[in-house]
Amino acid sequence: MKINEYRKKRNFSATPEPQGAASAEKKGKAPLIYTMQKHRASHLHYDLRLEWRGVLLSWAVPKGPSLDPTVKRLAMQTEDHPIEYADFEGVIPPGQYGAGTVMLWDRGTWEPESPDVDASLQAGEIKFTLHGKKLQGSWVLVHTRGFGSNPDRSAWLFIKHRDQYASTKDVTQDEPCSVASQRLLAEIARDGGGDVEKASLGDPPDQGRRATTTKPARGRIGRRRETL
Ligand code: MN
Repeated sequence: MKINEYRKKRNFSATPEPQGAASAEKKGKAPLIYTMQKHRASHLHYDLRLEWRGVLLSWAVPKGPSLDPTVKRLAMQTEDHPIEYADFEGVIPPGQYGAGTVMLWDRGTWEPESPDVDASLQAGEIKFTLHGKKLQGSWVLVHTRGFGSNPDRSAWLFIKHRDQYASTKDVTQDEPCSVASQRLLAEIARDGGGDVEKASLGDPPDQGRRATTTKPARGRIGRRRETL
């Protein structure tokens, strides 16, 4: 099972995250799932997930995606996730792996440019098209040898290709809400009984207040989000 590592890290009696069924590989030409989850854990990051062979290949992108082709964003490959994770939005309780608030920031489908994704993974370069609500067009993931004196085999770069969807607009700041529920991180935390103040640090400073109208959080709403 490719999601053994995913399961080992989690206690499913404590976290609302899906355990994952015995996932079946899609037959034929069904579109492949793409999702980007905004995750306010110990550090804010965006989890890029691409369905392949019955699981979601996963990368954590600390600074999130950039529509600017001159910007390379570090993307750390993480454990494969079950397909059901593509629908997860909510609060991972304190003490659990990845504790914090998860937002479905973008979702849709993806198409590999080269049909043999296993070969692309092996070669360390995956070119693909995203059909999301926020991210579209051509992108690439390039494997690196890590940086400086700290080589890390999980380090990739996530880069936008030049096409009609390339832009200098700051998509993470301009479109901060859930594609599934239109909520901010602070609102997802509030609704899920999570840490509203911590979650609000991942929302744009001028919008965090919206989440606190029914249940005020204590201070620091205006603080800018952390970067890694
Ligand atoms: Mn994450």
